[in-house]
Amino acid sequence: MSKIKALKCKECGQETPAVAKHVCEFCFGPLEVVYDYDAIRKEISREKIESRPRTLWRYWDLLPVETREPVTLGEGFTPLFKSRNLGKMLGLKNLYFKNDTVNPTFSFKDRVVTVALTRSRELGFDTVACASTGNLAGAVAAYGSVGGFRTFVFIPADLEKGKVVGAGVYDPIIVGVKGNYDDVNRLCAEVADQYRWAFVNVNIRPYYAEGSKTLGFEVAEQLGWRAPDHVVVPAASGSLLTKIYKGLGEFHQLGLIPEFHTKISVAQAAGCSPIVTAIKEKSDIVKPVIPHTIAKSIAIGNPADGYYASKVVQKTGGSGESVTDDEIVEGIKLLAKHEGVFAETAGGTTVAVLKKLVELGRIERDETVVAYITGNGLKTQEAVAEKVSKPHLIDAQINQFRDLYDSIVKSKRPEPVGA
Ligand SMILES: *Cc1c(COP(=O)(O)O)cnc(C)c1O
Ligand SMILES: [Zn+2]
Repeated sequence: MSKIKALKCKECGQETPAVAKHVCEFCFGPLEVVYDYDAIRKEISREKIESRPRTLWRYWDLLPVETREPVTLGEGFTPLFKSRNLGKMLGLKNLYFKNDTVNPTFSFKDRVVTVALTRSRELGFDTVACASTGNLAGAVAAYGSVGGFRTFVFIPADLEKGKVVGAGVYDPIIVGVKGNYDDVNRLCAEVADQYRWAFVNVNIRPYYAEGSKTLGFEVAEQLGWRAPDHVVVPAASGSLLTKIYKGLGEFHQLGLIPEFHTKISVAQAAGCSPIVTAIKEKSDIVKPVIPHTIAKSIAIGNPADGYYASKVVQKTGGSGESVTDDEIVEGIKLLAKHEGVFAETAGGTTVAVLKKLVELGRIERDETVVAYITGNGLKTQEAVAEKVSKPHLIDAQINQFRDLYDSIVKSKRPEPVGA
């Protein structure tokens, strides 16, 4: 018996077989995977999950594939750690960070890609492709190569070098499109129409998106099988945010966690905040914008799941805030200095928004809060390169070091702790 029931339209509810398809034939609404929860309930238990390998495939029962042999690089089950310093500084007693910078290609996109490519293989595709703001390109390139697919990645031509090299090294075909992500995405919709490929975020999107649920599952398991009180999630298309909510809901429905009232708050860059704007205006309509921000991985001006993301935030009692590029850089530096995690611009956005929400009194002291850090800072070094400590240049001579040391002491720079 198959655990996947069908694809179901989020708008009109019409069901259709679980093939490579993402829009409803009747109303053009987005399609979502529905499962046979009665069958899954008989199979799944906390003990069974805990006995499995420490990757996101421990949640196989709730992922949209039938095979037991996924296209995997060991992604997921990343650390959830209690804040070492920032919580204290912000006055939060139970602040946690979900560190998804340590995935195989250094972002949370490995979660969606392992699921998308496993399903693509199952559906018989030999070519995979994606439209990417950066991190997805790296993930599709890596999993595509290892999985033996022909791989095309489409990116905006002005992407950060770390992201282009970080995809190129896996040897895909990279197409740099002169334009922003929304232009890339528009082109890819046309390409997807004309070529019979598995486009992970076009015709494979219903399966791809399910991979993000594991960021809800893992946090609940890692907190000792309970949902957090409040989460802060960065949003590009808004898919990740909606799937964290869906994941927690499924865990509750299957009796794996108690009832929950998690507030879901969304973080965006001021230079691209269509979802936050809709929430602040208490509106149903997410108005497209043209992005201008250093947070390129989350710079989607016309977010596919923006409407659903804003609904989830409003329904759960969360908030939306946006932060400037300077605040994003400050967020990256705060997280590095006080928690030891070097995040990319999306992570800086999350930390800066977390801080803002605390200052605005929208996060309470005692709440169990989880901030999702979704990408690694080594990929967006140019964002902070000019704003971090730089080497003091000297020759290899002790007197030059002594002079340097004396000048540092004179400038009253505090001694490092433990020196
Ligand atoms: C893609 C991405 C996101 C958000 O993804 P959506 O599901 O499109 O909202 C967040 N952080 C990073 C680092 C990403 O690459
Ligand atoms: Zn429909």
